[in-house]
Amino acid sequence: MKILVINTGSSSIKYVVYEMEGHQVLAKGLVDRIGDPASSLTNSFYTPEEHKQKIEISIPNHAVGLELVVKTLMDPEKGIIKDTNEISAVGHRVVHGGERFSAPVVIDEEIKAKIKQLITLAPLHNPSNLEGIKVAEKFFPNAKQVAVFDTAFHQTMPPKSYRYPIPNWLYTEEKIRIYGMHGTSHSYVSKQLIAQLNKPVENTSVISIHLGNGCSMAAVHGGKCIDTSMGLSPLAGLMMGTRSGDLDPAVPFYLGTTLGMKLEDIDKMLNKESGLKGIAGSNDMRDVLEQRETGNANAILAIDMYVQRIKKYIGAYMAELGALDAIAFTAGIGENSVKLRELVCEGLGVLGIELDKSKNAASGSGNRRISTDNSKVEVWIIPTNEELEIALQSEKLL
Ligand code: ADP
Repeated sequence: MKILVINTGSSSIKYVVYEMEGHQVLAKGLVDRIGDPASSLTNSFYTPEEHKQKIEISIPNHAVGLELVVKTLMDPEKGIIKDTNEISAVGHRVVHGGERFSAPVVIDEEIKAKIKQLITLAPLHNPSNLEGIKVAEKFFPNAKQVAVFDTAFHQTMPPKSYRYPIPNWLYTEEKIRIYGMHGTSHSYVSKQLIAQLNKPVENTSVISIHLGNGCSMAAVHGGKCIDTSMGLSPLAGLMMGTRSGDLDPAVPFYLGTTLGMKLEDIDKMLNKESGLKGIAGSNDMRDVLEQRETGNANAILAIDMYVQRIKKYIGAYMAELGALDAIAFTAGIGENSVKLRELVCEGLGVLGIELDKSKNAASGSGNRRISTDNSKVEVWIIPTNEELEIALQSEKLL
């Protein structure tokens, strides 16, 4: 069975085609800069060997972009399908599923209407996700269209974790609460991590630490999320590439009333100009770590702040879980930065977390344990695979 996974952004479509038997990637690519004269499609086929191709062509909208993807996948020479009917399901990443969706669903008119209603909660993402669904329905009319929500994994949180201590009506009438993001990644990583433990799932307590451009953590007990660091939006929690993460809610008032900033400028500043970028001038962790090595004071401070916030959440989640079997690092920074993992684990012996420095520094791929043999809490690197998780969840629904 072949499944196409689509992640539609405002100006991009990322896609992967899987042969589900053996979870083999057949093709993978990106339609980039939709609506810009410099748009392009980059596609790679993986059978029999990798073949990468970039087409630079004007792509005015998502429909033209997906049409180009379909044509490429059906290429008479290198293509991996002869007919669009060979695709059994299209799995869509949908950012916000609100309280309505705690699991993936097969998309119909009612589901699309609901995703549209949820635009108020994810104004930057749900409209493009919906557009992706509509164009995929056109090109793959016989495939099941499946929505996999980034918030769904966190729907098992109890009210004490997801409610904000603000007047009740804001929750009951406006649904203002903690939803959490990166759910597909936390779901995949925590499942992989739990599978490494020699324990019945229901007795396990783990923490998943996703450190990419966006950063978030999830506390998972018995395979179910009990708390997470992002909130109503992805702005809350850890310090990120360009997002501030947690701050005193009075800061935006101060910026508005005392500095006279407009709401949209505050929004932009906290989402796009803060985090590592705000403190160290770059949102790329590699740059900031390099600057730190040269003794740059802002880079040193940025890393100290970034690491301290992760440690705070580890401590808080351990207290909430009441036990901790393992933690896992994932995403661009979590999977690749030896230094960052070392700094996060430094001094956490008191919590039973002991990193094996040579295992941490060893190059490798796949899931690997990097704690000492005596560490009470196991420390792992688990490469995330959100696309495969979407494909697996879509397959399950068929
Ligand atoms: P996104 O959230 O956009 O998917 P990624 O998961 O790709 O982001 O993570 C991007 C981050 O990973 C960037 O800050 C980048 O600097 C960082 N990164 C990638 N490789 C390394 C590395 N070897 N060392 C440190 N940071 C890295």
